[in-house]
Amino acid sequence: MKTYDVVVIGAGPAGLAASIEAARRGCGVLLVDSNLKPGGQLIKQIHKFFGSREHRAGTRGIDIARDLYREALDAGVTVWLDTSVYGIFAGNVLAYARGLLEMKPSGGAVKADRVVLATGASENAVNFPGWTLPGVMGAGAAQTMINVERVLPGKRVLMIGSGNVGLIVSYQLMQAGADVVALVEGLPRVGGYGVHSAKISRAGVPILTAHTVSRAFGDTAVEGAEIVRVDPSWKPVAGTEQRLDIDTICIATGLRPYAKLAMLAGCRMVHSPILGGWVPFHDRSLQTSVPGIFVAGDAGGVEEASTAMEEGRLAGVSAAASLGKVSAAEARAQREEVEARLASLRMGPFGKPRHDAKEALHKAGECA
Ligand SMILES: Cc1cc2nc3c(=O)[nH]c(=O)nc-3n(C[C@H](O)[C@H](O)[C@H](O)COP(=O)(O)OP(=O)(O)OC[C@H]3O[C@@H](n4cnc5c(N)ncnc54)[C@H](O)[C@@H]3O)c2cc1C
Repeated sequence: MKTYDVVVIGAGPAGLAASIEAARRGCGVLLVDSNLKPGGQLIKQIHKFFGSREHRAGTRGIDIARDLYREALDAGVTVWLDTSVYGIFAGNVLAYARGLLEMKPSGGAVKADRVVLATGASENAVNFPGWTLPGVMGAGAAQTMINVERVLPGKRVLMIGSGNVGLIVSYQLMQAGADVVALVEGLPRVGGYGVHSAKISRAGVPILTAHTVSRAFGDTAVEGAEIVRVDPSWKPVAGTEQRLDIDTICIATGLRPYAKLAMLAGCRMVHSPILGGWVPFHDRSLQTSVPGIFVAGDAGGVEEASTAMEEGRLAGVSAAASLGKVSAAEARAQREEVEARLASLRMGPFGKPRHDAKEALHKAGECA
């Protein structure tokens, strides 16, 4: 069985960044991803990112994915796409299945001295009468359909959830030619950035806060939906029901860390609502409770691509340092640089709660 210094699972911004940093420090790195294209969520982000220049503000997500992939190949990373890791066993033996998407299935196992879990996040669902009808889907699925597969999921859409995903995907559905009939949000306020909500309000989409979907209608597919106002305890207010003529319902009610491999490996899990649910405990070097297994990006707490890239860098440096590829002093200096950039990303009304949640997570380890 072939052994790599570092195997990185997931080629989103976190996994790409981790691979680049570890390979640049002399590690033999294998990067695997279930998808045919590298980039994780970035391959469907056609909008320009904002923030600071060092986090590639003003660049489209798809272009960030392309640039990181090129950097990874230049650094000497071995990349296996269409490869899913489905098992992690004692001694960091990783079982994988390859070629499932291209209908050329094969499989095997590799051994890793260090593992970086960068498996991202999965979408939360909400259930209501009719939620299993064709035409009800995650907003991420709709985004993959329009921006990757070039297929319009429907003509008249109801979006549930006003976080950034709901707001951005609404706008992109309109760009692709759909009519977003309404966006409903159970909370009394919009969840995402003002810049995104202003864009869809200007385009004429009603954003109905303190509202939710109560049912979907249709025999074999969605033909309509009922929405209703909710009180502060999320109870429907009788008499406020409205029927909407729509054929698609997109659910954008948050993401949760996709951390099944961490659970399989026996990593200690910690519950953090701010970070999206159950996350593998990780220390400041991003090492989990299982020595040699690191976690980075949304898999260790749902945030953003910019934080995912920085965490990936940190995990790559930490993995290389633990293999003795860089001196302890050098590793500390490099970690401090990344930590300073992470701290600047975790400020303000959106970032501060995540900063505090990460701090609580690290402290949970100190008490363990
Ligand atoms: C609609 C939308 C808009 C966004 N806009 C922005 C924005 O403007 N700015 C910003 O900073 N962020 C934005 N984000 C967030 C950002 O895309 C994510 O936070 C970021 O992609 C997380 O990176 P990651 O590498 O942790 O995970 P991902 O990008 O999700 O990558 C994880 C990868 O792991 C792979 N994988 C999972 N399990 C396995 C396995 N067992 N074996 C092999 N491969 C596996 C998956 O196929 C995937 O490619 C947006 C997200 C969405 C959904």
